[in-house]
Amino acid sequence: MRVTTLASSSKGNSVLLWTDNTKILIDLGITCSEVELKLKALNIAPSQIDAILNTHVHSDHTKGIATFARKYGTKIYCHIDGTQALALKLEKVKQEQLMSFDDKPFVIGDFEVTSFKLPHDVDCCVGYTIACGDTKVSYATDLGHMSDQVLLHLFGSKLVILESNHDKAMLIANPHYTPVLKTRILSSNGHLSNDDCAVAVAKLALAGTKQVVLAHLSEENNTPETAYQCVTNYLNSQGISEGVNIKIDVAPAHKIGTIFNLK
Ligand SMILES: [Zn+2]
Ligand SMILES: [Zn+2]
Repeated sequence: MRVTTLASSSKGNSVLLWTDNTKILIDLGITCSEVELKLKALNIAPSQIDAILNTHVHSDHTKGIATFARKYGTKIYCHIDGTQALALKLEKVKQEQLMSFDDKPFVIGDFEVTSFKLPHDVDCCVGYTIACGDTKVSYATDLGHMSDQVLLHLFGSKLVILESNHDKAMLIANPHYTPVLKTRILSSNGHLSNDDCAVAVAKLALAGTKQVVLAHLSEENNTPETAYQCVTNYLNSQGISEGVNIKIDVAPAHKIGTIFNLK
């Protein structure tokens, strides 16, 4: 199974997971034409995408989803608790393209997909684990805090794409953010800070995960270097060495990220 991020920030998110037989996107929060260009660069035709798994309705996860689904007839998968809210964003997408799932695992081609709820300021936000044979990959962004329940889903993954949204000090000092917005982001239903991400990554490393991609970085309240330093410094303090025990990658905001070929 191969995995890469097509875009990853507070402005737009999309992840591609693919095998020779099955190609899926998690979220389509950039424009349809942007995703078309990125797929072309990877030699994948948009019509080859078997499904788009949606995490939640925020526009940085849904921006191009309706245009893409209308153009290519792609199926959109969404948790039953979020289906109603997402349907409102899918103007002129055929009803039969919207597939609801519950908490049970389901299969799309080569992949077994399991969703899990994340604490975020919408009615329903989910993360995903995607299993292909013995290889498991997890995706969790847009969560205000890490819980043991979510960690249990992430354990056993070879690769985890995890939110490292903001540096708390940068966010608090940001003169362009209102106090209300700061409170929302910092709340237990907001976004995961670099500090909280670091603690989770250490637990993942101890549980055997070998690769983490820091994702959904805020472009205003974080930098790739800040997120990377925060996580690796904490790992060092716990006796875990980046590059030895676990590798840490940072997803670029707008460009295609590292392509991971997992066996
Ligand atoms: Zn969100
Ligand atoms: Zn988001």
